[in-house]
Amino acid sequence: MNKYWSRHVENLTPYTPGEQPRIERLIKLNTNENPYPPSPRVIAAINAQTGDGLRLYPDPQSTELKRALASYYGVEPGEVFVGNGSDEVLAHAFHAFFMQDDPVLMPQVSYSFYQVYCRLYGIDALLLPLEEGMRIDPDQYAAPCGGVVIANPNAPTGIALSLGQVERILRAQPDRVVLVDEAYVDFGAESAIPLIRTWPNLLVVQTFSKSRALAGLRVGFAIGQRHLIEGLERVKDSFNSYPLGRLDIAGAVAALEDEEYFQARRAQVISTREHLAQQLGMLGFEVLPSATNFLFVRHPMHRAANLTQALRERAILVRHFRSPEIDDYLRISIGTDDECAQLAAALADIVEG
Ligand SMILES: *Cc1c(COP(=O)(O)O)cnc(C)c1O
Repeated sequence: MNKYWSRHVENLTPYTPGEQPRIERLIKLNTNENPYPPSPRVIAAINAQTGDGLRLYPDPQSTELKRALASYYGVEPGEVFVGNGSDEVLAHAFHAFFMQDDPVLMPQVSYSFYQVYCRLYGIDALLLPLEEGMRIDPDQYAAPCGGVVIANPNAPTGIALSLGQVERILRAQPDRVVLVDEAYVDFGAESAIPLIRTWPNLLVVQTFSKSRALAGLRVGFAIGQRHLIEGLERVKDSFNSYPLGRLDIAGAVAALEDEEYFQARRAQVISTREHLAQQLGMLGFEVLPSATNFLFVRHPMHRAANLTQALRERAILVRHFRSPEIDDYLRISIGTDDECAQLAAALADIVEG
């Protein structure tokens, strides 16, 4: 305890992001970044903002981006919230909806930032175990609670729920917000966004960091009925009026406009993933079915911690989580075909050597 800290700071358990080391010729498959650059139209749009206009504050409502998102997803601009990365959008959602008397339900194995927000806002979390095959059982999410948060597809397992399963949770919790974090949805799952018409308790959160290759910009968004968006705006305008800068807004709008580029790169990542899954299977890895831009794998004969270290010595970074439920697994982000071929060759060498 530092004497200058407020008492609350002592009780925080901050999130540990994957490393961003400065090692040359590194194959970086540890933070689920996109291996491809953003669309050239994004770069042009950002460059066009780098002049004298930076003197002025950006639009506090990010109106242009909300309009672009609304039109892309077939909703109204008033049903869209934007923030500085989906991490910020998630934080505001926890603040706006989950500070209730009952605990928030979430999978025991999921994005660990959810528990960090619970600590930050003094929210109790009830962690529900995964069932066989590392799957979420939607029927566990019917207990009285302060809200539900799930990642779909889940992270770091990569496994997706069907929309029917998401609806089972929505039906069981009519008086609570069900937050569906779709950070990876573009790589193979079905988005719950169309369900917002039916479900006043559904909030869907997405990001430009993964499928749109813009982790460096920091743009995330939420889609839900107006009453939920208004709750988020109240928190946002009590925290930071300008979460998105001019470069962020221009870059994100341009990314939405280049649909052809988006589809081509997304299809490439999926195809590389399927090929890598097959190769790792042949090396004896158990590979969970992935609807994301990463694979979650384990090997019956090799400890994940040792594999991570052996890969690191070959300048390949993957992610290993130390929590007991997933200590056996490696999370491998999908890189280019060439990066994945080098990873597969290194693993073959380690596992067979
Ligand atoms: C990457 C990730 C995020 C955060 O994305 P940003 O928009 O970069 O903050 C949120 N949720 C999950 C599950 C993620 O994997």
